Amino acid sequence: MSRLPGVGAARAARLADAGLRTVADVLLHVPFRYEDRRRFGRIEELVPGEPATLFVRLAGARGARMRRGGLRVEALADDGSEAIRVVWHNRYPSFLKAAQSGHAAVLYGAPTVTPRGELRLENPETEFFDPGEEADPLHSGRIVGIARRVAEISPRAWRSLVRRALDAVSPEFASASAPPAALLEALSAVHFPAEMADAARARSVLAAEEMTVLAARIEERRARLRARPGIRLRGDAALRRLAGQTLPFRLTAAQRRAVAEIAGDLASGRAMARLLQGDVGSGKTVVAGLSLLLAARNGVQGALMAPTEILAEQHAASLAWLEKAGVRLGLLTGRVRGRPRQALLAALERGEIDVLIGTHALIESPVRFRRLGLVVVDEQHRFGVAHRARLFGKGESPHVLVMTATPIPRSLAWAIYGELDASVLDEKPPGRGAVVTRVRGEEARERIYRFAAERVRAGERVYVVVPAIEEGEREVAATRETAARVSAAAPGVAIATLHGRMPPEERSAVLAQFASGRVGILVSTTVVEVGVDVPEATLMVVENAETFGLAQLHQLRGRVGRSARRSWCALVVGNRTGEEARRRLAILEQTTDGFLIAEKDLEARGPGDLLGTRQSGLPPLRIADPVRDLHRLAEARRDAAARRERGETIASDLFGYP
Ligand code: ADP
Ligand code: MG
Repeated sequence: MSRLPGVGAARAARLADAGLRTVADVLLHVPFRYEDRRRFGRIEELVPGEPATLFVRLAGARGARMRRGGLRVEALADDGSEAIRVVWHNRYPSFLKAAQSGHAAVLYGAPTVTPRGELRLENPETEFFDPGEEADPLHSGRIVGIARRVAEISPRAWRSLVRRALDAVSPEFASASAPPAALLEALSAVHFPAEMADAARARSVLAAEEMTVLAARIEERRARLRARPGIRLRGDAALRRLAGQTLPFRLTAAQRRAVAEIAGDLASGRAMARLLQGDVGSGKTVVAGLSLLLAARNGVQGALMAPTEILAEQHAASLAWLEKAGVRLGLLTGRVRGRPRQALLAALERGEIDVLIGTHALIESPVRFRRLGLVVVDEQHRFGVAHRARLFGKGESPHVLVMTATPIPRSLAWAIYGELDASVLDEKPPGRGAVVTRVRGEEARERIYRFAAERVRAGERVYVVVPAIEEGEREVAATRETAARVSAAAPGVAIATLHGRMPPEERSAVLAQFASGRVGILVSTTVVEVGVDVPEATLMVVENAETFGLAQLHQLRGRVGRSARRSWCALVVGNRTGEEARRRLAILEQTTDGFLIAEKDLEARGPGDLLGTRQSGLPPLRIADPVRDLHRLAEARRDAAARRERGETIASDLFGYP
């Protein structure tokens, strides 16, 4: 990086801190917006609320200290047509100095009207020119790209840096999709387009390169996973017989298909790497149980890992039927301590336990199996890609089954789980009615709570979910306040609260009371979102539903409708919720198709919301857009696979691959 003229060691270090380590990093830090500086707006033509780019000189710039240390800077901006008052908040003294220099500046912002009826510009994006720079074609008299600011580099210095970076690229760099010259041209056009349309076209060329690289990476991981030898586990037919004998119900067609696919993998001599995708309540746990049974029958051990201790305990309870089939189950959570823990671990190591159930911490801890053959991971997206890699990297290459209840649009699933084979449970066990879903305003609350009381008196259970505004005291208060309101409307009904600040023991105790019916209404934050299974629950009330993503609401709704009883979901929206937000929620009234809902959510809110922002598992995309571009991934993968077949290597200096 410091080989770029104008980038010394200090600046290179600051860029690196901001994540820009190479020339390619700089080039891929593309503008998020463009300004047409061939024609500036005129102050006399400004319209309140409409953003415009102005080319001005500033006069009378003054600064005043603000309470929090920065400067409030005020000046009069004049473009020859008229003048407008401009105010900036929280600036450094250097900014004031530049404003006082009398040099030209470009402002971008939407004017507002003051109480006294004057037009004013507040906190516009501002770019000061140095003398003689006003006509520099890099910054003016053309379409100029505006990029997110990094390392405190001014927009002009940034554009000069990009220009030098472009000049520094060797024309022989490795490219994956288009010839290097075409990519270089696209890079140039995305930063310095001649026309607005050029920028869009250039972006698309670069996105294609990124897709190709992503596809190649997925295909390579896939090939690597396929090459792992696996313990041969046989007995598909016996398994089906056992299922018939031990389960109190018949498998759905989708479950049978998934079991057959898994059994096929286990018998293949290669290690399984499979994703089991299915909406909440589609019966994934049963499929996992049968797979673990097959492993146990073959004399190897299995592990089932859940994201939380509550879910681990619940899995242990719902897989109790395995014991009837002779499988020895063990449950390892933080609550198992001291001697019992020692005994459990020793038994595991001696091979006296067939299936160990625990949290994701299992793979981190010094737990030793005698012969681990199958690992089942529940709720993968909370698990993280790095964990997954470690899992597959384990010495004996166990078979791995990943379960997820998050319906993910196909395009995203390919990007996230692309190296896995997929089985989909697209069918619910019979006798489950659709959950009647209604979006209601706050005025309906009383009525809903009274209905909740009725459900409880009929022997059913009710969830009331409040948004977890933030981790912390607010969360506790929110559940308490709501519980008090519910209690006022539903006198005599046992109500409990549940939130993330409770110690795990207390949480499981509350859930056990709810499951047994001693508690009728559970007021909770989203900790109930994942996997909690109480078949008697028939009503889900979500408070401030407008603050949730559709996919998340769909998950919550999946907590009810888990038996033959009729079920309901009431989405209560705050009174200040706009029409559009209500319309968005109304999709849930119309469909229970998790994939369709996920698709809508992706369009409206982006992938972060869909997957829970932090460990979304989505590879970081620099140019491509997860909504607009990822659908091209399928084609890119076919392409990458074909090229691999032909023995081609797919490398890109731009996107750092291989
Ligand atoms: P998931 O893990 O996909 O949310 P579970 O495996 O927990 O779903 O199953 C949800 C509920 O449905 C459980 O109570 C389970 O016993 C029951 N169940 C699963 N498969 C069937 C089936 N084929 N027929 C009837 N009930 C089923
Ligand atoms: Mg489950």
